[in-house]
Formats: sequence, structure tokens, C-alpha cells
Amino acid sequence: MPIFEYKCGKCGHKTEFLEKADSGQKHTCEKCGSDDMKKLFSTFSAGSGSKSSGSDSCPTGTCPLN
Ligand SMILES: [Zn+2]
Repeated sequence: MPIFEYKCGKCGHKTEFLEKADSGQKHTCEKCGSDDMKKLFSTFSAGSGSKSSGSDSCPTGTCPLN
């Protein structure tokens, strides 16, 4: 299960949550209680076989996607 980082839109507190990618579940800020949590993009992708493994699928390094 991937970890997603959220930032509170009200106080700016950052929290990490474990959740399924398509759960659509809501989170509340543990600092101020606001539910205005914005999902941040992690450095690692939750998807499989996408950009993070691009170098493996393009051994020559001439792939236009890279
Ligand atoms: Zn907050």
C-alpha cells in the first residue's frame, strides 16, 4: 500500500497516510482538524511500469519518452 503525503490547506501541516490509490478517502489535519487536505505528489510513483522503470524498458537511452 503506497504512502501519500498530504498538506493541510489551512495550517500547512504535512502528514503521511497509507491508503489505496483509488480509495478516495478523506483525511483530517491532526493539528487543526481541517479536512482541507491536499494530496502532494511523492517522488516515487504509485503506478507500476511507468516512468520510474523507464530506463529498464529503454536500454539504449534513445527512447523519446526519456
Ligand atoms: Zn491543519
